[in-house]
Order: sequence, then structure tokens, then C-alpha cells
Amino acid sequence: MKKLPSLLPVLTFAFSSLISFALNAQDEEAPAFRFANEIRHITGDLYRAGNGSWHGIFLVTDDGIILADPLNLEFSTWLKTQLDERFDVPVRYVIYSHSHFDHAPGAAVFADTATIIAHEGVALNMDGRYPQMPGDMIDRNNNGMIDEEDIMIPTTADPGICGMFPGYFETIDLNGDGVATPAELQVDLVRPDIFYSERMTLTLGGKTVELFHPGKNHGDDMTVVYFPEERTVFATDMIADALVRDDIRSLPSACGPLDGTPIAEWIRSYEAVEALDFDIFAGGHGDFFSHDDVSAARQFLQDLHDAVNQALANGLSLEQMKQEILLQQYSHWAYYEQLREKNIEAAYLNLTRFR
Ligand SMILES: [Zn+2]
Repeated sequence: MKKLPSLLPVLTFAFSSLISFALNAQDEEAPAFRFANEIRHITGDLYRAGNGSWHGIFLVTDDGIILADPLNLEFSTWLKTQLDERFDVPVRYVIYSHSHFDHAPGAAVFADTATIIAHEGVALNMDGRYPQMPGDMIDRNNNGMIDEEDIMIPTTADPGICGMFPGYFETIDLNGDGVATPAELQVDLVRPDIFYSERMTLTLGGKTVELFHPGKNHGDDMTVVYFPEERTVFATDMIADALVRDDIRSLPSACGPLDGTPIAEWIRSYEAVEALDFDIFAGGHGDFFSHDDVSAARQFLQDLHDAVNQALANGLSLEQMKQEILLQQYSHWAYYEQLREKNIEAAYLNLTRFR
């Protein structure tokens, strides 16, 4: 396989510049992406591993380490060195929270000791066909290839929120032929060894980790990782998305019709997390959050759904909804001014597609 250096640090830097630019242009408070590789203790033998704004999680046991989300090849290479120095046990399992190119790649450095596990939806997203992608990056002309406009249409419509950034397409079109194949997008994404469908329990070194598929939301191949003894949950790009920083109270990016999965299923999947017995939500983005914080994120989606659903029943047009649905109780949330109308439009598109 053709090997290229990971471009993600470059990508994320450019993405953050773009976010800052977009937000400054709209006079919003703009918490910029942070860039610093770090390992942060959560509780017991559980740690967060991240690069500042993207995070994985790992549990250390006497018989090895269970890791979720290697992020990218450059980060996982750094992480392996750290784990070898600090803990004298190998990584035995790598779990993917979902297949997206900014969370799952990089497991190759652990492949000699680890079994890689993901939800069965990841197999479909790695079968060579156009994968489910974040940020309203969809196959607009149905040619099975990622074209520049698939990236640039959402990027131009919502700079710093959806799509990627100008120039991103060139970084995935590795052979420069004007289209990116799904294989080019997933060049550092290692195919899992084991796929599960609903739930799976891992035991290692006397400790237990539970995986389950919460349903479709941001992706169609999502895994939630639950550490019952540590009373901690890991999930990525759901509940707290890439815009979230220190406070979970942040309007979702709401790209396209809410990433193309039914809003009712989003809500049910958030409820599946809420139903767990936990104290700490340590997800792929943002700070550590509480059970109440997770409930707040679910309540926002529920209120958005209810308001738009009622407006549809009352025969309102989308423009009328944007005027009348104020979601006033969320006016103190981050991105309220910038993303309220966009959230209404996303819910409208979602509820007219899925009912
Ligand atoms: Zn994602």
C-alpha cells in the first residue's frame, strides 16, 4: 500500500484557522482548537489520550491496555511511545468509536499486539464504496468517488462548521487524478479484526469494558464504550461534537439533514447513554462532563425536534420556522446566534425526509 505521512495535523491546523476566521467574521466567541498531545488521568487506571481537541481513551490492566480511537498515524505513533514508557504492557485491544477519517486511523502501530474491534457498520463503510462522512460531505453526483465539490459545497455554505476547508480535497486525492477514491480517504484506516452488531463485553486483566451500538446519529457505525467500574463513558462526535470545548452547552453543528440519520434515532441513542450508570462523560471532544450535561445535550435535540415537528404539523414554511422558533431557553448556549436557524433547517430537512 502506498504510504504517505499523515496529513491530519496540517488539516486540523488549517481547519482551526478557518473556524477562527469564520467565527470572527460573525463576531462570535471562538474557542480555537488546541494542539498539544497529552495524556490526562480520568480515574483509577483510566486515561484520556488526545492531541488537544481530538481525544481517545485507554484503560490499563495487568495484562495489557484497551484503547479507543487512535486518531491518526502521527498521534498513535506518539501515543505508543508514551504507553511503552509509562506502562509496561502492550495494547491488546483497539476500539473504533466510528469510522470517520479524523478519529479511527492510526491503529497500524498497535496491530502486532492488538485486536481491533468496531461496530459492523464500519465494515460497510470500508467496503470500497463511498462511506458515510461527516459535515454534509456526500456523493452529490452518485459517481462513487469523492469529488472536490462534495467537500467544497458544504465548506463554502458553512465555513468552519461543515465540510472541511479549501485545499482539503487535494490532500486526499493522493494520485492527483481529480477524484478521491474511498480507499484514498481511508489510507491510514486499518480494517478491524472483529465486528459486533449490538453489544460486546471485553475482559482483560480482571477488568471489564462494555461496547454497544447506540443507534445511528452522527454516524451509522457508532460505538459507545462504557467503563462500569470507573463509571465513565466514551463516545465521539455524539453528545459533544467538534465545536464543544469546556461547556457541553453548545448548539450542534447540524450539517445537512443532521448527518442523514433520523433525529428520533439520534435522541434514542443519546438516551441509551443517559441510561448508563456513570459519573464522567469523557468523549472525543470537549472537557469531562457530567450525567446532567449529557441530559442537557439530549434535551436540546428533543426540544428542537418537538418545535420543528409541531411547526410542520401547523403548516409553517421553513422561513416561518426560522422566524418563529427561537429556542429561547438555549440563548446562552455557544453558537446560538450562529447556528439556531441552521439547526432548525437541519431538523426540517430531517423530519421531511424521515417521518
Ligand atoms: Zn465523526
